[in-house]
Amino acid sequence: MSSDLHGRTLRLELADQNLRDWEAVVLEASPEGIVLSKSAFYPGGGGQPADHGVLIWQGVETRIAGVRKGDDLYLIPAEGDPLPPPGTTVSAAVADDRRSALMRTHSALHVLCGVVFRDYGALVTGGNMEPLSARMDFNLPEVPQGFKEAVEAACNSEVVADRRIDVRVLPRAEAFEIPDIIRTATNLVPESVQDVRIVDIVGLDTQADGGTHVASTKQIGRIKVAKIENKGKGFRRLRIAVSD
Ligand SMILES: [Zn+2]
Repeated sequence: MSSDLHGRTLRLELADQNLRDWEAVVLEASPEGIVLSKSAFYPGGGGQPADHGVLIWQGVETRIAGVRKGDDLYLIPAEGDPLPPPGTTVSAAVADDRRSALMRTHSALHVLCGVVFRDYGALVTGGNMEPLSARMDFNLPEVPQGFKEAVEAACNSEVVADRRIDVRVLPRAEAFEIPDIIRTATNLVPESVQDVRIVDIVGLDTQADGGTHVASTKQIGRIKVAKIENKGKGFRRLRIAVSD
């Protein structure tokens, strides 16, 4: 599907979040970035950092340390690693430990967002994540007694309930008919975007989102609300940790 193209690169991770190995042809290569015909490296965005991984070609290894989004999708080679010449077919692989941890963490943040909106009516104002730890900011003027414990318990009930996490792509007009989408994403999706990718924790949280997620909430593991910080003017920062 054309919306999965970034420049000349077909983004494979949007349609298959579990893909870790694939073959691709090198279109361009310099120390500033390698452009492949196909890539499953998540390029970063929506608070989820870019994947790491490796390209193997003719017995040579090029480590990928990050991704830069320009007119093409540039895979950043580790400093000093050899570069595959254009035209080379490479075996590419995303570092599975890091990506799988980020998928669990990203889904955990959506559970948190769904719970805090459902139980307290609070909207998200920002967020960020590392593998297995994350923060999310909410517009929440009052923090009720026992808030931290109640949010943690509610998040883990949603994990135990093993809700399905579906990904689908909808035409823009149809996507924005979903009431919950408007609260989180209307202003984040540029006018030029005609197809909107929806991540739906069925029955809990529906968001326009380009990130990678686990297939159901049980795969997240345990969610701990580690800390609540007051960021002033009614803004609260919740820090979470994800574990087995
Ligand atoms: Zn997200």
